Order: sequence, then C-alpha cells, then structure tokens
Amino acid sequence: MSQKFTRRDFSKLFIAGAAGSTLGVFGGATPLLANQKRVVVIGGGFGGASAAKYIRKLDSSISVTLVEPAATFYTCPFSNWVMGGLKEINDIAQTYDVLKSAYGVEVIHDEAVEIDAANHSVKLKGGKELKYDRLVASPGIDFNYDAIEGYSEAAANSQMPHGYKAGPQTELLTKQLQEMKDGDNVVICPPGNPFRCPPGPYERASLIANYLKKNKPGSKVIILDAKEKFSKQGLFTKGWKKLYPGLIDWRAGSAGGKVTAVDPSAMTVQTSSGAVKGGVVNVIPPQRAGKIAAEAGLTDASGWCPVNPITFESTIHPGIHVIGDACIAGAMPKSGFAASSQGKVTAASIVRLLQGKVPAPPSLVNTCYSLVGPGYGISVAAVYKLTSDGIVSIKGAGGLTPMDADDDQLSEEATYARGWYNNVAQDIWG
Ligand SMILES: Cc1cc2nc3c(=O)[nH]c(=O)nc-3n(C[C@H](O)[C@H](O)[C@H](O)COP(=O)(O)OP(=O)(O)OC[C@H]3O[C@@H](n4cnc5c(N)ncnc54)[C@H](O)[C@@H]3O)c2cc1C
Repeated sequence: MSQKFTRRDFSKLFIAGAAGSTLGVFGGATPLLANQKRVVVIGGGFGGASAAKYIRKLDSSISVTLVEPAATFYTCPFSNWVMGGLKEINDIAQTYDVLKSAYGVEVIHDEAVEIDAANHSVKLKGGKELKYDRLVASPGIDFNYDAIEGYSEAAANSQMPHGYKAGPQTELLTKQLQEMKDGDNVVICPPGNPFRCPPGPYERASLIANYLKKNKPGSKVIILDAKEKFSKQGLFTKGWKKLYPGLIDWRAGSAGGKVTAVDPSAMTVQTSSGAVKGGVVNVIPPQRAGKIAAEAGLTDASGWCPVNPITFESTIHPGIHVIGDACIAGAMPKSGFAASSQGKVTAASIVRLLQGKVPAPPSLVNTCYSLVGPGYGISVAAVYKLTSDGIVSIKGAGGLTPMDADDDQLSEEATYARGWYNNVAQDIWG
C-alpha cells in the first residue's frame, strides 16, 4: 500500500499535475457555454459530494455533474448507532437537494458503467454519455466475498449481512439483533487491513453490547478478528471493561479469531480453533476499490488506486482523480472525514489545473469519533503532509483521547461525536 518517492519523482509530481490537463470536446444533453470546463464526479458519498460542492464553490464557471445511483445516501458514520438503537435510519439519510439548488451541481441518479480514459468520457447505465475535462472517481469499496469459503453477496443480503455499506443491510442487522433470542451470541468478523473505517467493527461491538446489556442480558458479543491488534484498541478495551465487563470477547487472529469459512444456513463460522455459532453473524469481508475503479483499470495489484498525492490524479490514467476509500493515500485511514478532506484538496487542484495553474501541495486532515456507550466517546485526530515518503501524519499535530480521560471528558467526547456528524453532513450535503 505504501508509495515511495525519490526526490526526483517528488518534484516531478508538481509538473505532472500541471501538465496533465487534457481538454475534451463536449456533447450530451446539458448545454454548456463555449469553452466551459466540465468535471464529472462518480459517487455522491463523502469524497465525491465534497469534491463536487467545493469545485463549484471555488469556481462557479466550471460545470460539475455528479453521478450517483441513489437519491438518498445513507452514511456509514452513525450506522452503528442505528444498530445499537440510538438512532433511526432516517437520521443518517442525506440528499442532494442543496448541492443542486445552492451550488448548481447537476446531479444524475444513474450508475457509471464505463470510463473511456482516452476519450475522456463516462457511459451511464441509462445510456447517457458524459464528456469531461477532469473526472473525479469516489466509488467507495467493493467486497471480496470469495476470500471466505461459503460467503457470497447473496448470503450478505440475507443471513450474514456485512453492514459495511449503510442502507438495507443496516436495517437487516438491526432487525436480526432485535429478533435474536436472549442467550444467543452476536458474532462480528472484521477483516485484515486495509479496510473501510478501522474502528468501525469495534464501535459496532460496543453499541451492540450496550443494546444486549439492556435487552438480552444472556447474550454477548464475540469478535473473531483477522488481525492481531485494532484501531484505538487501548481505549476501546478500557471502555469495554468499564461498561460491559464479560460481554465482549475479542479473539485475535492467532488466538482462533481468523475466519476461514462460514455456513450461512447453520449460522456458523469456522476458525482455526473450531466452529462458532451465532444468533446474529456479521461478516465483514476483505475489501478493494469500488467496482468501476477496477473495471476502468485504475487499480494496481493491491486492488486499490495509486494516485499522485498532490492532486489525487491517477498515476495510471491521467485526467482521472481517485479519492476516498478507493485510493491509496499513504498514512490516511479509509474514513469519511479523510475522503471529504481529499475531496476538498482535489477540488482545489482541479480548479487550479483548469485555470492553467500549478496545484499547491495539500494539507490533509482526519478526525474520527467512536461511541463506546451513549455517554462515552473516544476520538483520534491527525494532520497530514506530503513528504518523499508520500502522505505522512505530522507528529504532534493531532491526538487521541488520553487513556486516563475521566468520565466528564469521555462524556464530552460523546457530545462532540454528535456535533462531528452534524457538522460533517452539513459541510458535505447541506
Ligand atoms: C460502520 C461504519 C462506520 C463508519 N464510521 C465512520 C465515522 O464515524 N467517521 C468517518 O470519518 N468515517 C466512518 N466510516 C467510513 C466512511 O463511511 C467511509 O470512509 C466513506 O464513506 C468513504 O467515502 P467514499 O466517498 O470513498 O465512499 P462512499 O461514501 O461509500 O461513497 C461512494 C458512493 O459512490 C457511489 N458509486 C459507486 N459506484 C458507482 C458507479 N459506478 N457510478 C455512480 N456512483 C457509484 C455509491 O453509490 C456511493 O454513494 C464508517 C464506515 C462504516 C462501515
């Protein structure tokens, strides 16, 4: 996943970014002014919606078309809160009305099925073809179902949901939890790195434990992990001991946590130390960049998209910027806040490129809150810069909830988590 740059490569990145602008010939249904520059954005999630909005904010002369199949986008952030009964599904619903009305983004609810990088065009499932000067792809993730014997997309949609794209599977997992017999266990199977939202499975375990404690006191959560350690581990473990003693059983990969196969009809999970049965089984499979990125040849052997870290322009196909979970962004985690930060940096780069200017080196940010219990939050924040080692976090410019944080601080963190969501959603879609 890491990209090394020599000093020469590093300085060449600036020049490549500036020289890579290729102008297309426009066509299609939307009338454009003569010489008007056109950007197409694939994906209206955290990365894509941010890029679309900020390009228009920075230069309203640029036409921006956002392609997103869903009229309502359900955010993964706070989807664990829905499963834990602390939020409703409608609380995590976002729409594109403000992007359209206040920012003049053209939103097409369709799916991009083909990218012609040589001719700078995108074909949509509905038959439309969109020409672009610059394309932004933020398609999120796809799942590698084949990595786990017995698992499949069909099993994920019915018996063993991953709940790692918010929406119907969030509701299915919530329903399964509610209908589960008291005394049955919830089994969560997180994948190895890299994957979307590294603290996500552990926040989920926390909020499910909170639900079980109140509603099904005979049940517990078993985490069968592919990894040896996980994000914010010390903070989560401390919270679990305090709030849910004996309720969350985390097993590292080498301690029998690694899942090799599943049997959805029996609701069992096979590990190196035997079979584990669950009343609810949440299998989160290994991941890769969203399907359209792979089909367009934007991925490398890792399954993710290598990019120029200044402009997020693909190092494989010039003119296409890949942001969010799909791209390889050095030390940045695959988070919604990181995707949005990359969306803004990319917007600024694209505007400069289309104005014939050289993009400036980026400053990128991530903040991530997790809820361990309704009044118990934890967080991590980081600022990133570009060096010859790629995107690295700046030491001292960020932080983690201190291990010795007292109850008041932890309660404040939970309040800040709610504020984080409202601010981020407002910034991107509002
Ligand atoms: C349980 C959970 C909790 C999380 N909590 C947090 C959190 O608290 N904080 C945080 O920062 N992050 C969190 N995340 C991570 C966050 O959701 C992702 O990192 C973020 O959504 C990535 O943004 P993206 O733009 O790359 O992808 P997405 O936001 O998934 O957007 C991708 C969009 O592209 C669209 N798309 C895909 N293919 C096509 C195509 N061919 N044509 C058109 N459109 C297409 C999809 O419909 C989708 O709307 C969480 C994730 C999970 C699973």
